[in-house]
Order: sequence, then structure tokens, then C-alpha cells
Amino acid sequence: MIKRDKKRESRIAKERVVYLVKRAEEWKNKDYELARRYVELAKRIAMRYRVRIPRELKTIYCKKCLYPYKEGNFRVRVRKRRVIITCLNCGFERRIPIRQTVRGATKNTKSITS
Ligand SMILES: [Zn+2]
Repeated sequence: MIKRDKKRESRIAKERVVYLVKRAEEWKNKDYELARRYVELAKRIAMRYRVRIPRELKTIYCKKCLYPYKEGNFRVRVRKRRVIITCLNCGFERRIPIRQTVRGATKNTKSITS
């Protein structure tokens, strides 16, 4: 039996996931069905190897129907400090909280106390 190299496996899996989602982004205006298929595959690989889909890639497709968001089929609204993306295919709403960044704040206090 060949020993599985889990680290290597998950690294490759992640590469494939990223590649597939990017492909979906590329194809969404040419072949929408194919683009969806890419997202589906990416998701399947991610689940199989338990790798995380990078956050910036997660926002390009609908979590529910897996179609990539493309012009005219999604709506973006800002409400109560949240970005709300609505998929117009299936009506699924996704809420992304807007984080307040206090950049440099911790650094400054450190330099004062030390
Ligand atoms: Zn959807």
C-alpha cells in the first residue's frame, strides 16, 4: 500500500480549487453552464480534501446554486454595515459584514508602553 502524503495532497487540492474557480470566472460570460460546473468541481475537491476556498474566491459565486455571479444576475446592497449580495438565479442572499480595520493601532500602543 502506498502511504498517502496528506500535506502534498491538500496542497495540490488547493491549487486545483483555485484554478477551477478562476476558470469559472473566465468562462462565466462565454459558457455559463461550464462555469457552474467548474465551481461545482472546485467545491467537491475542497470538500473531499478538506481544504478551504480562499475568501476572495468565495465571493464570486452563489453558495446555493453555484452559478458564478455575473452582470445582471446579482444585486449588491449595503445595509447595516453589511454587504448583501443577492443571487437573482435562486434568490439566495449572502451577507458579508464589513470589518472595521484599526490598522496600526496595536502597534502604536506597543511602542508607547515598551
Ligand atoms: Zn444562486
